Amino acid sequence: MRTPSTGREVVIEAEAGKAYVDRETGEPLEPVAQLLPLAPTPSELPWSVENLRFCNWCDQLCQKDLNDCPHCGRRLEPLDL
Ligand SMILES: [Zn+2]
Repeated sequence: MRTPSTGREVVIEAEAGKAYVDRETGEPLEPVAQLLPLAPTPSELPWSVENLRFCNWCDQLCQKDLNDCPHCGRRLEPLDL
């Protein structure tokens, strides 16, 4: 978000449909960029190496507890546990 007069930029967690104002000037902030969460998945596992494996179809990293690859949507091979 950017304050039009000062050009100061802040990164905040904005909710759609809400207006945000600059804390110092009280001006409405302009959204300049949106950050989207990386590959939203139904997995509960944190995105860390020990929880990831490569998809046998597209070679992208997926969380181990997923049944379907979040990248190509294909069924992952069962893990050998
Ligand atoms: Zn895949």
